[in-house]
Amino acid sequence: MDKSKIEVIGNNHIGTSLKTPMREDAFAHTDAEKISNIQFHFSKIMEELGLDLSDESLSGTPYRFAKMYVKELFYGLDPKNKPKISTFPNTYGYQRMLVEQDITIDSSCEHHFLPIAGKAHVGYIPGEKVVGLSKINRLVDYYSHRPQVQERLCLQILKDLQEVLGTRDVIVVVHARHLCVSSRGIKDKESYTTTLDYGGVFENEDRRAEFFNLLKNDGNKV
Ligand SMILES: [Zn+2]
Repeated sequence: MDKSKIEVIGNNHIGTSLKTPMREDAFAHTDAEKISNIQFHFSKIMEELGLDLSDESLSGTPYRFAKMYVKELFYGLDPKNKPKISTFPNTYGYQRMLVEQDITIDSSCEHHFLPIAGKAHVGYIPGEKVVGLSKINRLVDYYSHRPQVQERLCLQILKDLQEVLGTRDVIVVVHARHLCVSSRGIKDKESYTTTLDYGGVFENEDRRAEFFNLLKNDGNKV
């Protein structure tokens, strides 16, 4: 890809599909092999920048970096790490809106590999099934921990919850700050980005208003 197109895609944060673009052989290597390979390549990046890797402070950085990528920041690339979301029958017949608010978003921008930090708010109206509340947080955490664009993150959470809950009646809002906007490029420290998507009854403006009213206290703070 030519360099001007690379800049355009990065600066506009254009995503290409709902699915995270993955190689066919994404998991041909074990985590240990990935860590070892990334450690090697990152040491080359550091050397190219002119850093002296024999310095005690720097010598362990390539390993720490590699382990952090595979086991922490990007653990959500691997489907085997997807949280098991068990559902329960809605025996108490709760039929109103349930809102899980201020769920931490710790993600990374796929165009610059810099942090995206913020909050997600999820609402749904239970049908036959309900989920344990912390499971929503775990699902948000899982999809956040891969290189992302915020629009896709929002959609992946929505689609997955709709599937798990067996209902279209789900709404997801994400407010987040992007370090690639605040620390480089335009260097805007204050702006943040909001994305939302919804289905089912949330197509109805009154239902969305009800959801946003419930968030009103401090829901739109990042
Ligand atoms: Zn970015």
